[in-house]
Amino acid sequence: MITQTSISYYGLNYVEHAEADFKEMKSHGVTQVILAVTEFDFDFWRPNIPAIVDKAHELGLRVLIDPWGNGKYFGGEQVSKFLQDNVENRQVSALTGEKLPYACFNTNSYRDYFKNFCTTLAREAKPDGFFWDEPHYAFPKGIASITGGVADDWTCYCPVCRKRFEDYYGYPMPKYMTNDVKQFRWREALVVLSETSKAIKEIRKDCEITCCVHATQNGYYVSEYRGYDNWDLVGSCPYFDVFSTTIVNWALPEDFYREITKRTVAIAKKYGKLSERWLMGYYKQPKDFAQIDRWVDIAAEEGVDRIAAWTYRGGYGTVVGAPDALKLWDAIGENYRRVLGAK
Ligand SMILES: [Zn+2]
Repeated sequence: MITQTSISYYGLNYVEHAEADFKEMKSHGVTQVILAVTEFDFDFWRPNIPAIVDKAHELGLRVLIDPWGNGKYFGGEQVSKFLQDNVENRQVSALTGEKLPYACFNTNSYRDYFKNFCTTLAREAKPDGFFWDEPHYAFPKGIASITGGVADDWTCYCPVCRKRFEDYYGYPMPKYMTNDVKQFRWREALVVLSETSKAIKEIRKDCEITCCVHATQNGYYVSEYRGYDNWDLVGSCPYFDVFSTTIVNWALPEDFYREITKRTVAIAKKYGKLSERWLMGYYKQPKDFAQIDRWVDIAAEEGVDRIAAWTYRGGYGTVVGAPDALKLWDAIGENYRRVLGAK
């Protein structure tokens, strides 16, 4: 049964402005706000972040912190201060050897940076949880992806990853993706999130961790191989509480959405977690808004615990705003109220 309804939010500057927006969220049936905290917010607006979390709590909203686009390792349009300040510790292409604009999350440099970002916010802002938002290696995406095409190149072939691979397997890291490379990438990808989640729970025992991975087919023939496509490995991580899969475009077939939803719930149940599905509340909108009602109903029928949408006001005023952003936001709000049985 759907008991929580989330919306993401970027406006982390002034408490009194956030307060007005939180009230609007409440009127749209939102129970939980996902604060997209950028590296710049952390560096510059830090004094106001705890006050904004307090204000959300005062109004009866749960709060999850999303380290949005951090290191460009997570999904999101924000720019990365880590990449600005570090010319090394970047993901490296296996085929060309080029350094890429993505932090290598297997380096101690980024692992320390990320852990400090999250544990500081856990201590100072006291959120109800953290949201791991589409973590990924830069490449590949593969033809199963909703976000990209075929790719042969892959990451990460940086000196840290190569040394760790060789220390573990006893031979140099290959330049093509073998089964050992796949296993290595899956295992290492979980280290940074597991260690940080564990550290957060040591500070705040009840802090809830959601891991949201790309909604991919992961079938026999095709997979994304971006590090978190092995859902059993992600689902079995003892420090995660909610297994979540990301947005699919409204233009995709309903059967695809239903299949992703079924598999998401199945993995969550198998490992004793809550399940979450996302709706596209920005950029694109369905041709017929009644599709939102149907997809919310599918989530409820399949046993999803939480639904979420990106983002507040349909992305109104941004380059990724939906064509009828405010109408989309209202339609999502009506569905949130409906599914919660709100009057
Ligand atoms: Zn690396």
